[in-house]
Amino acid sequence: MNVATMDEPDAIERRLESVLSAIRAAELRWNRPPDSVTLLAVSKTHGVDAICRCIKAGQRQFGENQLQEALGKIEILKEQPLTWHFIGAIQSNKTRGIAERFAWVHSVDRLKIAQRLSAQRPPHLPPLNICLEINVSGESSKAGIAPSALPALADAAAQLPGIKLRGLMSVPAPATEFEAQRRPFRTLHALFTGLNDQGYNLDTLSMGMTDDMTAAIAEGATLVRVGTAIFGPREAIPNDQP
Ligand SMILES: *Cc1c(COP(=O)(O)O)cnc(C)c1O
Repeated sequence: MNVATMDEPDAIERRLESVLSAIRAAELRWNRPPDSVTLLAVSKTHGVDAICRCIKAGQRQFGENQLQEALGKIEILKEQPLTWHFIGAIQSNKTRGIAERFAWVHSVDRLKIAQRLSAQRPPHLPPLNICLEINVSGESSKAGIAPSALPALADAAAQLPGIKLRGLMSVPAPATEFEAQRRPFRTLHALFTGLNDQGYNLDTLSMGMTDDMTAAIAEGATLVRVGTAIFGPREAIPNDQP
């Protein structure tokens, strides 16, 4: 059984509303222009019913991290005016499905993947928007490229047809203190500014999740990826239907 169904009937709607209020409050508090931060609702592991409740409440951007799971939802919801973002680890054999069915990919971390997405993006679709995933915490176990590898990857990715380099993304190591949460986001923002100073036209800084969204907004996030705070806790079994 899906945890969300055990809550009150309007729990998702209320949580979505409160996440949006928290984003607007953080914009004000940290001198960010109103509506400068986009909410990406991370619907991974949650069913179409939960996504539909968000759609009815006005949410249009959804994030998924597993191709097979996402394709089912995208197909069922294909008449809806939604923007789908792929945010998970990318295996080479999954790039075609991603290139064909998504509008955004946040987790590009090597040139080979960028090249495959470029080659496999159907010509009748607008370019696939991509962010490069950076490992700003420096642990070897985490996804993303080292900051030192960014200039070469950005240069190569920006020249590929069929994809459009929009910005940078990171999932820093979890931290509880607000100041500690801010530090990796500040590093990512500096890398972003550095590329724009060199003439890149990046407009997307994808950083911040349920537990560190405010710190990310304080450091310039333009898009926060939020799952738990909207949909409730995720269960171990993906796609469990109520
Ligand atoms: C799951 C996920 C999120 C959302 O995480 P929450 O803590 O549930 O908000 C954001 N970004 C990525 C890359 C994820 O995989």
